[in-house]
Amino acid sequence: MADPRYFDHAASTPLDPRVFEAMMSAYQRLPGNAHAVHGAGREARHAVEFAREQVALAIGAEDPQQIIFTSGATEANETVIRAHRGAISPFEHSAVRAAANGYEVLGNHGYDLVAPVASDFLSVMSVHNETGARWDVRSLPAKTRHSDMTQSLGKEAVGVTGLDFASFSAHKLNGPKGVGAIYSVEGQIEPLFRGGGQELGNRGGTLNVPAIVGFGLAAEIARVEWLERAQHAAALREQFLSTLSKEPDLTMNGGPNPAPHILSLSFSGIEGESIVLGLDELGFAVSAGAACSSGSTEVSPPLRALGLPDELARGTLRISFGLGNTAESTEALAKALLSTVRRLQSLHT
Ligand code: PMP
Repeated sequence: MADPRYFDHAASTPLDPRVFEAMMSAYQRLPGNAHAVHGAGREARHAVEFAREQVALAIGAEDPQQIIFTSGATEANETVIRAHRGAISPFEHSAVRAAANGYEVLGNHGYDLVAPVASDFLSVMSVHNETGARWDVRSLPAKTRHSDMTQSLGKEAVGVTGLDFASFSAHKLNGPKGVGAIYSVEGQIEPLFRGGGQELGNRGGTLNVPAIVGFGLAAEIARVEWLERAQHAAALREQFLSTLSKEPDLTMNGGPNPAPHILSLSFSGIEGESIVLGLDELGFAVSAGAACSSGSTEVSPPLRALGLPDELARGTLRISFGLGNTAESTEALAKALLSTVRRLQSLHT
């Protein structure tokens, strides 16, 4: 059973037991290389193509051939950013930002969302991993549009219609880590790895069949159960906020319509990391921001880009709800947070 005190579902989610079972079965029954011509290869290939259909259906792609399997959203983002020249929003996940910085010489650059200027290529994420704020790149002027939808799939209704590219990662939707996908409207992209020309030449490398099978089933379950999950997360978020409502020193991030599973709060005068450590001692897992950049004392560039003053950005805490969380554990977390914040604030006065 998932730990009810794990509140870091934006960083990663526990594996759904149904997905685990399907993966175990794939490990046992599908030893073949999905590109081998013999029976074992064909069976592995069949499982991969079934998973491709499941992912396509879950994201509203017209054709399963528009799905290119990767090792996760970092690779998906890197591939898209490397293949295209243009702009990214200033608050993208480091998987997009670092890629754009790395390929700056190719013409990638930051984008001003306040005064948008048409761009050949534009990448804007659908749900912000640190604050839960939402955007739709389709409303912005560009010839080619990419959206990092890693925080959307499994959490809200996802549709790729009107996009040229999108990125996904299985471990954000109770699937396995180390597998994800690129949606490409043309079913093509300049590959990051050429290798043996797998994935129709779009991504070389032997396919990780059990992980892909797990991703497929996780996507299928997300397609059927996302609304129930979103309602569960929204109810817990609401409950949590009502317990915290008397806290005077609190800023809520994420804009007027944040994704239901992410709650981003900023406290003044204390560090988000200290709250995380204090809550960890009490058995709760939360985050001060993106797990990928934690450990660094730098103010999160996306939070700064989203207009949060440095002092508040430093005191930011992300609580992300998911399957194992209950009303009881949410109440306990809210109380533990209040006492931890009081204790830390008293140390500073
Ligand atoms: N983009 C976003 C918005 C994310 O939240 C994450 C995960 N932290 C990634 C990309 C990277 O995904 P992966 O872990 O699959 O490489």
